[in-house]
Amino acid sequence: MARIAVIPGDGIGREVVPEGIRVLEAAASLHGVPLEFEWFDFASADYWTRHGTMLPDDWFDLLRPYDAIFFGAVGWPEVVPDHVSLWGSLLQFRRGFDQYVNLRPCRLLPGVPSPLAGRQAGDIDFIVVRENTEGEYSSIGGRMFEGTERELVVQQTVMTRVGVDRVQAYALDLAARRPARHLTSATKSNGISISMPYWDERMRQAAERRPEVRVDQFHIDALTAHLVLDPGKFDVIVASNLFGDILSDLGPALTGTLGVAPSANINPERTFPSLFEPVHGSAPDIAGRGIANPIGQIWCGALMLEHLGQPRAAAAIVAAVESVLTAGTQLTPDLGGAARTEDLGRAIASEVARVE
Ligand code: ATP
Ligand code: MG
Repeated sequence: MARIAVIPGDGIGREVVPEGIRVLEAAASLHGVPLEFEWFDFASADYWTRHGTMLPDDWFDLLRPYDAIFFGAVGWPEVVPDHVSLWGSLLQFRRGFDQYVNLRPCRLLPGVPSPLAGRQAGDIDFIVVRENTEGEYSSIGGRMFEGTERELVVQQTVMTRVGVDRVQAYALDLAARRPARHLTSATKSNGISISMPYWDERMRQAAERRPEVRVDQFHIDALTAHLVLDPGKFDVIVASNLFGDILSDLGPALTGTLGVAPSANINPERTFPSLFEPVHGSAPDIAGRGIANPIGQIWCGALMLEHLGQPRAAAAIVAAVESVLTAGTQLTPDLGGAARTEDLGRAIASEVARVE
C-alpha cells in the first residue's frame, strides 16, 4: 500500500489536483496498485490567513510517513507574498526531505503546438535532471568595500563529491532504463575553471560504471542552442543547479503550453517522501473558473507511479493523455478548445482503461 499526502495548495492547484487523483485512481485500480490518499489544507493562503504560517510546526513528522506528496500549486500574492509562501512550504519540503533531484520531462505531445516550426509529437522527448541542493545556489559570499570604488561582490559555487556523485548516478541509472540510453552532461568547463572541470571529472568516473549508456557533454551555451535547433538528439540531460534551472524552463517552453508540464522533486533512496507538482503555479488570473488544464498535474501522477515502482500504470496515464489529445474533442482553452478542467480529467480517466 502506497500512502500519498495530497496538498492542493492555492488557485488552480485546487482545481487540477482532483483531476490528477481521478486519473490516478483509474490507473491504480486497473493495474492493481493500492493507493491511499490523505488530504492536507496547509501550504496555502487560506492556511496562512488562519494560522500566520504556511505549515504546522509538526509538518515534518506529519508528512514523513508518506510515500509521496502530490502537490498542486502554492502562492496567492494578494494574501501572502510569494517569497513567504514559497520559502514557507515547498522549499522546506525540498530541504527537509532531501529531495536532491529535480526532474522535468519535456515531451512534445500530440496536438500541442511547439514554438519550434515543423516539430511534431515525438520529435522532442528529453528529461532534465537538475541538481537541487548545492552548486551555484549557495549563500556563501558577500560584498566588500561597499560604497567605494573598490566595491567587490563574491558568491561561491559549492560542489561536494557526495552532491555531484548522487545526482550524476541518478541520471545515469535513469538513462540506462530508457531505450536511447543516452546521457548528456551540461558543463561550462571551458570558462568556469575549477568547479565545472570537477563536475566533468566525476561524470567521467561515474560513466565507467555504466558502459551501456552513451555519455557526452555540452557546454551550456551550446546546449541551449542545440536544444532549440535539434531537440530530438537529446534523451537525459544532467545539470548543476543553475544550468538545470535554465534548461528546465527552456524544455517546457519548447513543448508548448505550461499547462501540460510536470515536475518531480525526488529523494531517490525513498528515505523521505518525494514531491510531484506541475511546473505551472497557482495562476490567479484563471483560478476559480474551471478552465485550467489538468494535464501537468495528471502527468505528475504518472511520474509518481513510476517512482513508486509502477511503470505500467504510469505508462497507461501517459498513453491516455496522448490519446485524448490526439482525439482533440476535450481540450481546455489553453489548448484551443472549450472543455472544462473536469471534462478533460474525466476523458483521460476513462481513456486509461481503453489504452491498455
Ligand atoms: P508562479 O508564480 O508559481 O510561476 P503564477 O501564479 O504566476 O505562478 P503560472 O502558473 O506560472 O502563474 O502561470 C502563468 C500563466 O500561464 C497563468 O497566468 C495562466 O494564464 C497560464 N497557465 C498556467 N498554468 C495553466 C494551466 N494549467 N492551464 C491553463 N493555463 C495555465
Ligand atoms: Mg508567476
